[in-house]
Amino acid sequence: MMPERQSPEPRPPPFFVGDHLAMDFLNSTGAPWGKPIEWLRNGADLVDWLEQAHALPAGIAAQFRAENDAFHALDAVADEARGLREWWRDFAKRHAGRPLTAKAIAELEPLNRLLARDDFYHIVEAMNGSDRKHIDAHSRALRRRQERRWTMPERLLQPIAEAISDLICEADFSLVRTCEGPNCTLMFYDRTKAHARRWCSMAVCGNRAKAAAHRARLREEQKGRR
Ligand SMILES: [Zn+2]
Repeated sequence: MMPERQSPEPRPPPFFVGDHLAMDFLNSTGAPWGKPIEWLRNGADLVDWLEQAHALPAGIAAQFRAENDAFHALDAVADEARGLREWWRDFAKRHAGRPLTAKAIAELEPLNRLLARDDFYHIVEAMNGSDRKHIDAHSRALRRRQERRWTMPERLLQPIAEAISDLICEADFSLVRTCEGPNCTLMFYDRTKAHARRWCSMAVCGNRAKAAAHRARLREEQKGRR
């Protein structure tokens, strides 16, 4: 049976509160309002999510959507994406809050396997005016840029693999956190100056926590008056 294309019930838009694509990818499933929501049910979902995450150029997303007979292959990639997400969640949760050590390499075989599938090429292009503003006057008018060949649905996992490897190698894993909201599973990369971020978002868990703290204060005040 073909997986269904349309949700039987509407979903809220996906969360992009992770402050890093690799964290947003983890948050493509979650239960911020108690009920689990899956934003990567099938291949069409995966294409939508990647485009909304700015991980897939709009033109390429349209191309994948137009190839109707590719849906079957896209659905298989979405399956793979969910598998990758659970592997990555397990890794991120176990290592969150402290710097990674070289020992972690023993766990990164699935990521390296995925990275090896990538297909890049380079192009030389003219820099536009706004790019050139940032460099000195007689510097380059041309630049070399890396592009990905989006030849098959499997390539859709590459920007995710790239983001995960970026977080692992270039970022500070001690700033990887889970939202402090009770039962909230959303994770983020804390880029705040004081590194004191606690919530996935103020709107979902921050306000809830504030309201709970307010109720606790009222109770204390009432006790004090008695
Ligand atoms: Zn939360």
